[in-house]
Amino acid sequence: MSATSAEGTSDGSPLSRVRNIGIAAHIDAGKTTTTERVLFYAGRTHKVGEVDDGTTTTDFDEQEQQRGITIFSAAVTLPWKDHQINLIDTPGHVDFTAEVERSLRVLDGAVVVFDSKEGVEAQSETVWRQAMKYHVPCLCFLNKMDKIGADFYESLLSIEKRLESHPVAIQLPIGAEGTFEGLIDLVTMKAYRFAGDHGVHVEEYEIPPAMVADAKQWRHTLEEKVAELDDELMHKYLEEQPLTECEIKRVLRQATITGRMNPVICGSSLKNIGVQKMIDAVVDYLPSPLERPPIDGVRSLKDLTVVHRKPRRDEPFSALVFKIVAEKPLDLYYIRVYSGVMKSSMRSYNSNTGEKENISRMFRMFAKRREQLDEAGPGEIVACVGLKDALTGHTLCDAKDQVVLERIEFPTPVISVSVEPKNSKDKETLIETLGKMARQDPTFRHSFNAETGQTIISGMGELHLEVLIYKLDKDFRVPVIVGKPLVAYREAITQRAEAEGRFIRQTGGHGQYAVVRLRVEPFKPAKGEEAFSFSNEIKGGALRAEFVHAVERGAKECLSMGVLAGYELLNVHVTLLEGKEHPVDSSDMAFENAARMAFEEACKHAGPVMLEPIMKLVVTVPDDYFGIVSGDLSARRGLIQDTEMRKNHRAITAHVPLSEMFQYSTHVRTLTQGRANWAMEPHSYAAMPLNLQKELLRKHGYGD
Ligand code: GDP
Repeated sequence: MSATSAEGTSDGSPLSRVRNIGIAAHIDAGKTTTTERVLFYAGRTHKVGEVDDGTTTTDFDEQEQQRGITIFSAAVTLPWKDHQINLIDTPGHVDFTAEVERSLRVLDGAVVVFDSKEGVEAQSETVWRQAMKYHVPCLCFLNKMDKIGADFYESLLSIEKRLESHPVAIQLPIGAEGTFEGLIDLVTMKAYRFAGDHGVHVEEYEIPPAMVADAKQWRHTLEEKVAELDDELMHKYLEEQPLTECEIKRVLRQATITGRMNPVICGSSLKNIGVQKMIDAVVDYLPSPLERPPIDGVRSLKDLTVVHRKPRRDEPFSALVFKIVAEKPLDLYYIRVYSGVMKSSMRSYNSNTGEKENISRMFRMFAKRREQLDEAGPGEIVACVGLKDALTGHTLCDAKDQVVLERIEFPTPVISVSVEPKNSKDKETLIETLGKMARQDPTFRHSFNAETGQTIISGMGELHLEVLIYKLDKDFRVPVIVGKPLVAYREAITQRAEAEGRFIRQTGGHGQYAVVRLRVEPFKPAKGEEAFSFSNEIKGGALRAEFVHAVERGAKECLSMGVLAGYELLNVHVTLLEGKEHPVDSSDMAFENAARMAFEEACKHAGPVMLEPIMKLVVTVPDDYFGIVSGDLSARRGLIQDTEMRKNHRAITAHVPLSEMFQYSTHVRTLTQGRANWAMEPHSYAAMPLNLQKELLRKHGYGD
C-alpha cells in the first residue's frame, strides 16, 4: 500500500473518486433490498439475498432479520467504475435516532429511498429532516416502481410538497406496476433496461416512440432548472440552444452538493431495475470528501478556539469514532479519518478523554470479509482494534496538534425499565454488560437505584428498550426479568425563592461552620448549555473563592435528587447572596452542606412542578379513520398540531405525553385494522396537569 499524492487514499485511488454515502429510508421502503443489490452489482457478493428469506449481507444481526428492519450500521467498501464507494448502512427506525445521526454525521451524501406507491410517508419526513440537519446532499430513489399503485409523478410531487427539498427528475420510468421495464435517463436522453440474470446487463437503447414527447418535456424542465443556477447556461437556454450532457451534469452536481437540488431517480430493487443507474448517479452527483467543507473543531474541551481540518494527507491527523461493535476478542471501532494519515500500530490521542489510544490493527470492511490496511488517509472509513476507552463521538488526533471535532448531540432518554438478572449469579455480568452496551449506544443509559436495589435502563422508546433487552439475552447471554416501562419525568421550579442554609457544629474540638443565603429561579439554557447556572453576588471577596466553589458544587449536586419525587431537577439558576465563614471551623465540606440545605429549602418555595416528556407523533391514516384516531389522541391528552390531506390519507401531527403512548403500536393497529403508519420522536418536556402530578406523587409515596 503506497502513499500517494496529498489528496490520495491509501490504496492509490485519488480522494476525488471516493464516495462516503448512506442509503437512508424508513422501514419497508426497500433499503435492505437496495443495499443488497448494490453489493451484488459492485461484484462483492455472489448471491443476491432476499430480505424475505433472511439471507441478506448487511443484515447480519439475527434480530434484524427477525424483525425485517435494519437497526445496526455496518460500513462496507465497494468499487464502482474506478470509484471507491464506502456505504454506511443507516438504521431506519426513529427510536434509533442516535444510530441514524451518528452515521449521517460521517456521510458525504445519501440516497433516500421512497416507496413509489406511498410517496413521502410520516417516517420519510423524519429521515429527511435528519439528513438536512447535517447538510447531507441527497438523491431521491423512488423504489418499488413495479408495485401495484406505484406512481412516479405523484411521488415526485409529494417530495416537493412535503419535504424541504428541491427535487428534479433526472429519470422517467418506462411503464409502471406490472409493466415497469426500465427507465429513461433525461441527462443522456437514452432508455435503459436491465437484462440477463438479476439484471446484470445494462442495455442502452433509443427512447421508445410513445415516450419521446414526455421525455422531451421533462428534459426541458430539467434544462430550465439547471439554467436557473448558472448564468452561462441561462444565456444559452434563453437563446434556445440545447444544453449538453456535460453542462447539465456539471451544474447538477454542484447544485446537489450545495443542497440546492435533489436529483430524483427511480427503479425496482426487487425486480433488479435501475440499481446500477442509481450507483452511477451516486458517482455523478454526490460529493467526494474533497468537495465537502473542511471539518470544524475546537482546539480542546477547554480552549474553544475554532480549528479547521482539510481532507489532506499533509494536515495533522484527526478522525472520529462513529460506531463501536462488540466483538470477541476485541471491540471493533468504526472510524472516519478527516485529515492526515492513520497508521496501524500508531499511538493516537483521544482529545475527549485526554488519554492515549493504541490503534493496533486496521481494516477495510467488506460485507463478509475484511482486508488489513497499513494506513488510511483522509476521507476513508475504516474499522480498527486496539482502542480501549474511546466512545462513539470521540475524536482521535495527533497529540502534538490537537482538535476536538464537533461532538455528536444525542437526545436524552425518555423511557426506562428495571431489569434484574434471571440467574442471581449474573449480577456482576449484567452491570459489566450494560457498561459495554452504553459505550456502543450513547442514547442508552443505565443506573442502579440503591434504595430499591434495582438496575434501571433508559432509552429513546419502547422498541429501543426491547432491542436492548433482546441483545442482553441473545448477544451477551444475560437473560433478565423486565419491569414495566417507566417514563423519565423531570422536575422544575416556576418562581424565584430565597433561603438560608446553616451548617454549624461547634460543640467541642474542631467544629464546622458555614452559613449561606441562596436565591433560586427558573432559567432557559441555550442549546447545548447545562441545565444549571450559578452566579455570585457577594461583593469584594467577603467569602473565600474556594468556599464559593463549594457552594456551587453543593447546590449542583442537589439537581439529581429533585425536590418533589426524586426526579432530576432541570433549569435552575442559583445566586449566592450572602455567606459567612469562621476563621477556623469553616471548610469546603461545611459550605457544600449549607448550600444543599439552602438550595432544597429555596426550591420547595419556588413552585416546583413535575415535567413529563412530550413526543411528536405523526400518524397517517386513510381518511375514514381520521375521526377515530384523532379522538383517541385527544383521549391520550394529545394536542393536534396539524392535519394534512395526502391523496386519500390524512396525516395528523400531534404532541402527546409519552406516558399515554405505551403499546400505541398495538392499539392503533386495532383501531385502523392495520392501516395506520406512524412515527414518534421526543419533542420536549412540559409541566404535568396538577391532578396527574398529584396522582403520580401519591403513587411514589409523596402524596399530601
Ligand atoms: P427496508 O425495511 O427499508 O430495509 O426494506 P426491505 O428491503 O426489507 O423491503 C421491505 C419489503 O419490500 C420486502 O418485503 C421487500 O421484498 C419489498 N421490496 C423491496 N424493494 C421492492 C421493490 O422494488 N418492489 C417491490 N414490489 N417490493 C420491494
